[in-house]
Amino acid sequence: MTQSTHTDRHTPRRIALLGASGSIGRSALNVIEHSGGCLVPSVLTVHRQTQVLLELAHRYHPKTVVVSDPNADCSCLRELPCGTELLVGAAALEEVATGDDIDVVLSAIVGSAGLCSTRAALEANKTVALANKESLVVAGELLTSLVQAGHGRIIPVDSEHSAIYQCLHARRLTPESGKPWQCPVACCPEVERLILTASGGPFRGWAPDRLQGVTVADALAHPTWSMGKKITIDSATMVNKALELIEAHWLFGVSGDKLSVVIHPQSIIHSMVEFIDGAIVAQLSPPDMQLPIQFALYDSERHRGPSQRMDWHRLCQLEFAMPGPGEYPALALGYDVVARGGSCGVVFNTANEVAVNAFLHGQLPFDRIVPACEHALSIHPYDPCPDFHRLGELELWTRLEIQKWIS
Ligand code: NAD
Ligand code: MG
Repeated sequence: MTQSTHTDRHTPRRIALLGASGSIGRSALNVIEHSGGCLVPSVLTVHRQTQVLLELAHRYHPKTVVVSDPNADCSCLRELPCGTELLVGAAALEEVATGDDIDVVLSAIVGSAGLCSTRAALEANKTVALANKESLVVAGELLTSLVQAGHGRIIPVDSEHSAIYQCLHARRLTPESGKPWQCPVACCPEVERLILTASGGPFRGWAPDRLQGVTVADALAHPTWSMGKKITIDSATMVNKALELIEAHWLFGVSGDKLSVVIHPQSIIHSMVEFIDGAIVAQLSPPDMQLPIQFALYDSERHRGPSQRMDWHRLCQLEFAMPGPGEYPALALGYDVVARGGSCGVVFNTANEVAVNAFLHGQLPFDRIVPACEHALSIHPYDPCPDFHRLGELELWTRLEIQKWIS
């Protein structure tokens, strides 16, 4: 008799896909489509792209769809397939993320708007496949405390964190399915450091004065990844890597001195784990988010899927470089937030969200995004252990402060 595992290969896993119209959402739907019925899209949510939602509903026949913006025009959704229920408003995200008939919540909303549903899913003991890194940046301490107290599980989807998770998994250092979370690295004396790779973005090697004239189109032209607008700008400023340092700190329970960033322009090695004997284990694959999404949705099982394969004929070389001192001011902010903790995460994340939005609307030059974050961090009323209510107040405070600073 074979031992049964948490994931029975024949029982469909019912997915609540929060952020279905986005870049991660679309990749996830492609993974689901290739799963031969093993993965079922029970819930699809969008913020206000109702026409896209209608098309997705006819294609995937979810049980429930959500439009989270209460002011969105939902008139086209009169044509939803019969059997699909429509919910409207932000509170519906929490309702669907906690449903009894959901096995995995894929948290793929962009920005801190993803926090409430991520929190609700964990409180309801769900497995959360987490793409929404901002929720850990804002509330890493509170969310990981929930998990450590036995509420739900987090499986990383961000490619770097998935790569580290896969490297640890290969060494059986990740918690088994259904077991309470233990920070695998914090508890593992074998691990020396985690090495996050970064492509360096479209402006790698540019002198600071050249960054003044960067346009939105320049910043949206990422050399290796195709992603949503906000994360593409974050990659161009390197704030994305700073957010990922903070995300790794919370996910794996490591301090900043055990986290390194290496520039790797080809985005083939997604991250690495260095062990105390000097061995380094890496995860390689073409830059395609379908692989980390699939690994999370299948709860760390290996299955065939739609992800791109390595073409060893085309690959010519893998390059690596250490970021030069002062080359990427955003990275220093990331390490600073990891070291100081408390309210720094919410302030950094909010300042960045406001500044990126202003840049996308032509109200702030590209090279002022990181200074906006520095400004907010330097003047904010530091709180060493904010609760969820206080995080909301600090988010509002930062939003107003940065809007004032910009204007
Ligand atoms: P995207 O902009 O393409 O999609 C965002 C999704 O969130 C859409 O479905 C949108 O309708 C929804 N949304 C937007 N605002 C919302 C709000 N206020 N309330 C509820 N829903 C809202 O973004 P993306 O690139 O798919 O990124 C999603 C998340 O995944 C981000 O946190 C990002 O950092 C992370 N991530 C993305 C990638 C990638 O390759 N795209 C890689 C790693 C991590
Ligand atoms: Mg990433």
